[in-house]
Parts: sequence; C-alpha cells; structure tokens
Amino acid sequence: MGALTLTNITKQFGTVDVIKGVDLTVEPGEFCVFVGPSGCGKSTLLRIIAGLEDATGGEIAIEGRRVNEVAPAKREIAMVFQSYALYPHLTVRDNMGLALKQAGQDKATIAGATDRAAGMLALGALLDRRPAELSGGQRQRVAIGRAIVRTPKLFLFDEPLSNLDAALRVQTRIEIARLHRELGATMIYVTHDQVEAMTLADRIVVLRAGRVEQTGAPMELYNNPANTFVAGFIGSPQ
Ligand code: ADP
Ligand code: MG
Repeated sequence: MGALTLTNITKQFGTVDVIKGVDLTVEPGEFCVFVGPSGCGKSTLLRIIAGLEDATGGEIAIEGRRVNEVAPAKREIAMVFQSYALYPHLTVRDNMGLALKQAGQDKATIAGATDRAAGMLALGALLDRRPAELSGGQRQRVAIGRAIVRTPKLFLFDEPLSNLDAALRVQTRIEIARLHRELGATMIYVTHDQVEAMTLADRIVVLRAGRVEQTGAPMELYNNPANTFVAGFIGSPQ
C-alpha cells in the first residue's frame, strides 16, 4: 500500500485543464521530487494533495484511505512553502506549536514536541524571537520545524529553498536530507534546482503541462531520459 496514491487526478481552472490525469504512488519513506517548467502544475498538485484545492476528478488516497472529502487539517499532511508563511506576531516557539495548540494538545505535549523539533533544527536559542528578528534561513528552518512538530504522515515542500542564498540552500538541503533519514517520513519536494533533485530524490517525477512525462531514480533518468525534455531537467548530455 502506498503512502500516497493519486489515481487519474485532473484539475480545471475555469475551462483550462491544468492537471490532465496524473497517476502516482509514493511509497512509505520515499523522498519523491517533482520537477518541471514553471506553470506545469507542480504547486497545484501539491495543493490538491494537501486539500487546499479540490481536484476536478480522480482519487487521492493516503495509506489506502480516500481523502478527497477529508479537510486539510485532518489529512496529517504538513506543507512547507517558499514564502515561510510564519505569523509575525508570534514567537518561534508559538509559531511552531500553533498547529498542536489548535488541535487541542496540552501544554506539556506542545512544549515537548517544539523542543524536540527545535533541537533537530538548531533553533533552541531562537525560540523566543519573532520572525522579523530572524534571517531568511532561520525563518525557513522555523517553517520546517513547524511541519515536523505535527509528526505528519506526509511532508510536502514547495520550492522551500528558492528564497535562500546559495550557501544556505546547500546547508538547508543537507538538513532536510538528514531529517528525512531521521524521521523516516514520506516526502514530496518540488524544486527547480537540478542539484537538489539529484541529491535528495529516491525518485524524480518529471511533470510537463499537467502530465507525468517520466518518473524514475535520479540516475535512471540521467542515463535514460525518455526525450530531450526530460534530459533538459536532469542534465544528461545528449
Ligand atoms: P507550477 O507550480 O508548476 O509553476 P502551478 O501549479 O502554480 O504551476 O500552476 C499551473 C497552472 O495553473 C498555471 O497556468 C497557473 O496559471 C494556473 N493556476 C494556478 N492556480 C490557479 C488559480 N487559482 N486560478 C486559475 N489558474 C490557476
Ligand atoms: Mg509552483
């Protein structure tokens, strides 16, 4: 049974077909990377998985259970955005604990989960600061920490590092890879960056105009791209 199974997912905005029948199974613990040109539907697909957007057709199943009609907060999915989306008036501690508080967890549970996530992401010294007092890299670590505290079944990352400078991108990428190993969690990660895709992915899914063009392990795609479109993303010299 897949951690996530998409069956013939379609999405129309008005009369425009944006997702045109996507079938995909993500295995438990897999790190799956979506690549594809701007506008091909990567964010829309993540938002459909998270429940932030309804699919027009098809089925989304998490651990074998259909979730199309399940509210986002009940899907046990955490999403990390490019823009961090932290609350400016809340401290790091409260930003990270908010979802648990909203879910009705007690203070001790929230404090324990927040401290554990802060420890994993080296945020312990920053817990009482507000987002404005943090660097871009620190903010993104808080956004990742906020995702971890909920111990979701599935992590979705939408170009989480694209606002960071090159050195921080590398550092944060290494941290995400370490978290994936330590948590054993299933992750889907959207990126434009070929190095991120090649180094993080167990499997790369190449999307083109709302369809899956090719999927495979990084070296499979690198050595055997189906066409020049895929080669353009995975960088195999042709
Ligand atoms: P990507 O993340 O791959 O760059 P998106 O999923 O953001 O692509 O967008 C895919 C297509 O759907 C684009 O053509 C975009 O303009 C369109 N789109 C996305 N969201 C909406 C929306 N809420 N209303 C109308 N069109 C949208
Ligand atoms: Mg996008």
